[in-house]
Amino acid sequence: MPIKGQALTRYIFVTGGVLSSVGKGLVIASLGKMLQVRGLKVTAIKIDPYLNVDCGTMNPYQHGEVFVTEDGGEIDLDMGHYERFLDMDLPKDQNVTTGQIYWTVIDRERRGDYLGRCVQIVPHITDEIKRRIYRVADRAPYDVVLTEIGGTVGDIEGLPYLEAVRQIRLEKGFENTVYVHVALVPVHDITGEEKTKPLQHSVNELRRIGIQPDIIVARCSRMIGSDAKAKIALFGTISGEAVYCSPNVKCVYELPLILDAEGTGDYLCRRLGIEAQKPDWNPWKTVVQSFADASQPVMIALCGKYTSLTDSYISINEALTHAGAACGAKVKIDWIETEAFEEEPSTVERLSSYDGLLVTPGFGSRGTEGYILAANHARVRDMPYLGICFGFQLAIVAFARHVCGLTEASSAEVNPETPDPVLDLMPEQRELTYKGATMRLGAHDVSIKRDTIAYRLYRSETIRERHRHRWEVNPAYWNILQSHGMVFSGLSPDGRRVEVFELPSSYFYMGTQFHPEFKSRPGRPDPAYYGFVKACLEKKAGRPRPQFYA
Ligand code: GLN
Repeated sequence: MPIKGQALTRYIFVTGGVLSSVGKGLVIASLGKMLQVRGLKVTAIKIDPYLNVDCGTMNPYQHGEVFVTEDGGEIDLDMGHYERFLDMDLPKDQNVTTGQIYWTVIDRERRGDYLGRCVQIVPHITDEIKRRIYRVADRAPYDVVLTEIGGTVGDIEGLPYLEAVRQIRLEKGFENTVYVHVALVPVHDITGEEKTKPLQHSVNELRRIGIQPDIIVARCSRMIGSDAKAKIALFGTISGEAVYCSPNVKCVYELPLILDAEGTGDYLCRRLGIEAQKPDWNPWKTVVQSFADASQPVMIALCGKYTSLTDSYISINEALTHAGAACGAKVKIDWIETEAFEEEPSTVERLSSYDGLLVTPGFGSRGTEGYILAANHARVRDMPYLGICFGFQLAIVAFARHVCGLTEASSAEVNPETPDPVLDLMPEQRELTYKGATMRLGAHDVSIKRDTIAYRLYRSETIRERHRHRWEVNPAYWNILQSHGMVFSGLSPDGRRVEVFELPSSYFYMGTQFHPEFKSRPGRPDPAYYGFVKACLEKKAGRPRPQFYA
């Protein structure tokens, strides 16, 4: 047992200051990794103080990517970082939102559980927040539970959470709780100085709420100097050895190594009274090295909606990078908004300068004719193609129009009036009126057909992949699509639903109804992404199509 004395769970709480998007998620994932390589059992919770019950109904421009868990949660993208760094599948209820908290409390009030009492933020809301944190700690013998409080200290919405974690220190003791504050240190663009004042103010705000941080992580574009560190320690009232820096990195997976080299992991263990084993970083360093070693450039056009915010498709980005590292390819991604092709269809030609084309998930009709043009362009020019969910569906529409001669084919989502709805609403979706959490979500088994590229990549007749969709390939069109050369290489186990298609006559042209990117991990890329990037690399080099793992 790595913990000295009584085995109990320790709690680390991470708050953010100065700005949102300051990289708290990566810091918490890195802290978790540092503890994990010391032999500790950890897990992570993400708190999002907004009123939505989950982020499934939010536009990526509002929120960034919606990450999907095995158990069908539509959750915050930071949970994707935790899964990738910690190599674990996290349950959806470890993403807590204000919507969930209030829903539970108000439901209890209606049931009469609080009869006679006035229901208040303190204690009823704060108790429910604590219950959800303690529930995670009780779930398994975790040594450490890390909790990230989303947003920035000072936000009105975040106050009940800060109050709850302030109380947790009283309940669990100083020695079992650590507050980590991550805040931006901007570099003055005229003088080049690292400015710590905004960070100092955010620490003051935290103290006003009753929380004195134990560790401060300065988020800066570069490694901060000793003067800035000393100032942060002085004004933050913490020891100089508890100030660390999270600088910009080329590859996010380097961050735990950088923070640990600064002493963060050892300090955390000392502070929590944990007698941990020496860290074994070797497997992680091998993975990080594989990213540094990947040197053969591959240019991929990522076509979709919401492309002006790179956070919209963060897991796809990561999955491509993981796949690139596994085959020596340095993947460079250009984000292309498909709406541009609709205004001037001939501009789709610009895609020819790329080594491969990935068409992304999406919803609604904006930009969809552009998706179809892009998918068709890749097939006609025999460019490696990977279509994910909407990119899978609209590549089938392109094939129906241009190969099967169904010139007005569409998805009924895009054009409800189409005479040929090759994609149609799934039957179980028809009666639904609520939009939240009602898609076909989470992990479902997929049966892979032998003697297909999908089988050579996945090397299994059954895989389990994460989903998020309402529409599916219309069974009425299976025959015409197949008779024109499309192969359905993955189906749902009952044989009713198409999950993977491929075109054997193309160099590499594949689509998946599911989202393989959510299960891709550094050092263990998803096979479909691997196949795609490898195909881009080989095609660029003028070599025949790889046989993959055959
Ligand atoms: N809009 C499509 C559907 O609901 C695709 C969803 C997606 O790309 N995640 O089926």
